[in-house]
Amino acid sequence: MSRLKFTLEKTARGSKARAGTMHTLHGPVQTPVFMPVGTQATVKAQTVETMKATGSTVLLANTYHLLLRPGSEVFKKFGGIHRFMNWAGPVLTDSGGFQIFSLPTERAMNEEGARFQSYVNGDFYMLSPESSIEMQKTIGSDIMMVLDQCIPSTASHAQAEAAMALTHRWAQRSLQARGDSPAALFGIVQGACHHDLREKSAAFLREMPFDGLAIGGLAVGETAEQRYEFTGFVTDQLPPHRPRYLMGVGTPLDLLESVHRGVDMFDCIIPGQLAQRGVAFTARGKVQLRRITHKLAEAPLEAGCDCATCRNYSRAYLHHLVKADEMLGWHLLGIHNFAFYHRLMRDMRAAILRDDFIAFYEKNRTELGRSDEENVIHPVKKRGLARTKHLGDYDIVTSPAGYSSIRQISSGEVMHSVNRPSDEAQKLYVEQSGLAGRLLKRDGDEAEWVIWDVGIGAASNAMAALHCFEKALAEHGPAALRPLRIVSFEIDLDPLRLAAKFASHFPHLRHGAPHAILEHGRWQHASGLMEWELHHGDFLDFLESSKIPDDIYYDPFSAKTDTGLWTPEVFARIHRHCAPKSAALYTYSSATAVRVSLLTAGFFVAEGFGTGPKADTTLAFTRADGASLHPAAPKLLGAEWLGRWGRSISKFPAGLADNEKTAFERRIESHPQFAGVV
Ligand SMILES: [Zn+2]
Repeated sequence: MSRLKFTLEKTARGSKARAGTMHTLHGPVQTPVFMPVGTQATVKAQTVETMKATGSTVLLANTYHLLLRPGSEVFKKFGGIHRFMNWAGPVLTDSGGFQIFSLPTERAMNEEGARFQSYVNGDFYMLSPESSIEMQKTIGSDIMMVLDQCIPSTASHAQAEAAMALTHRWAQRSLQARGDSPAALFGIVQGACHHDLREKSAAFLREMPFDGLAIGGLAVGETAEQRYEFTGFVTDQLPPHRPRYLMGVGTPLDLLESVHRGVDMFDCIIPGQLAQRGVAFTARGKVQLRRITHKLAEAPLEAGCDCATCRNYSRAYLHHLVKADEMLGWHLLGIHNFAFYHRLMRDMRAAILRDDFIAFYEKNRTELGRSDEENVIHPVKKRGLARTKHLGDYDIVTSPAGYSSIRQISSGEVMHSVNRPSDEAQKLYVEQSGLAGRLLKRDGDEAEWVIWDVGIGAASNAMAALHCFEKALAEHGPAALRPLRIVSFEIDLDPLRLAAKFASHFPHLRHGAPHAILEHGRWQHASGLMEWELHHGDFLDFLESSKIPDDIYYDPFSAKTDTGLWTPEVFARIHRHCAPKSAALYTYSSATAVRVSLLTAGFFVAEGFGTGPKADTTLAFTRADGASLHPAAPKLLGAEWLGRWGRSISKFPAGLADNEKTAFERRIESHPQFAGVV
């Protein structure tokens, strides 16, 4: 019988993130949960009152330290740690193994356990599975941990296998030693960074009557990628109806990544330790209060934070306390950091419960991972003087309506010049192409939907498509969707780099994907259903080797700036490559020269949606029936347009020789699109 009732309330869609409740001897704990570390029966520099106020529901205490001091007789006298430290909530105790095996203490280890000398008074102690459980019972733990042999995560296979086998034997002895104690007991999956050992260890321990299972031996030497990979690998092997605890992890980003991989419980010394060093966590990254920029700052540490520190003190005061090495600085920063951690856990839980975790995950994985924009080292400039925001040939311009766009300095051309970029992207490309509907499997059509994003710019168009995909995934679930591939082409990534650097001006970039694109040139959605790749270089060099698209978002700079991408020859190459499919090309331009270039290249050309002050735009199809099959049923250009064209002064594409003009005219007039109208 389990001593720890665990109710699994929800598993997020498109993720392994779970929300649940553990019922302990000292009350319920909602998961996912972060457990502050109270090594010496105290969370350093805090009181139980401040810990409660920050949202702590369960604390961790260290068996090894408490065994040495104050010693078991004190806990016996007080009837346990709860009364001793005045904490009424649940307590989880570690086994002492981590300290014995990883700290440089004198020890001798064998099958029985580890013999070591006290750093307090020089006495010798024996830590065995039995003595560890005995001490944890005396402490009055709600959740006890088995003694395990800790080794570096980078240990060799042979070393890791031996430690794992010993840990398994000790796990059996720990269960025996628990006897009829009402306290819960967790087993610990070991195996370092070896898949076969992790698998074996999980298989062995899940068959035993543990109340929960922990993942041990991570955050001790491996890379973050390895840590995430092994966390996900192990949770895949664990039974769903028992809580999972990732020991000693981690940073806010670690918590997000691990909750996404199905972990319920965490502990880590980081929030308290960084508070001691004058560092605070905020939603925009870490802030070092020691920096001179905070000297005169009246603002709170984090706007909108409801912790006692942010409600009552300025950054300037915190800066002063940190500089003066005052204890109160550590205390106040600790309050904020614990409040930040607990809020992150609560927000994740809320996102899981409303089935929105994937969106939360994508948004926050960038925010939590980045260093703070505010942490500029150069001194504050005179008030009123805006920081110049430019990179290479680009800068940021902000419209009177308050939205920002990227401008090419040399040409003066502004991307999405007359509309909010994300609105134009949404309307002109995503909405007009009916992407939301196209992503749904229908009539057996389950093939990948491919979008070419020609001219990534500040990624407005690709992100609009990505958001459309995420919305469809949340609404319909993965089984209903066909895969999506976005292929972006861009020769100059400076606009995207610039926009990403000032993401507060470009809300659509508050997502992990564009940052991954900049860093790795590709990004995959966690569902595995969407891929985004970047072809960095001249579009024309990639054209024929890229996967044939269904939709083309044609959004390079205008013909004036980017002449080479608007010629009949280029459109003819696109048409030839895409001819095997019924493909549609969308572009913001309604210029006559662009439309005739498309027509002469073989496209069927229609009037597109107007966006904002643009009366209309252009869309074009590779095949004659493109317009009638299109969800928006657009109107192909007809006799009226042809008449206007005949009278137009910009009738021909730039650079067309005079002696070619008659032939060109005939080609347009004889286009099948105009059959019967001339
Ligand atoms: Zn705060």
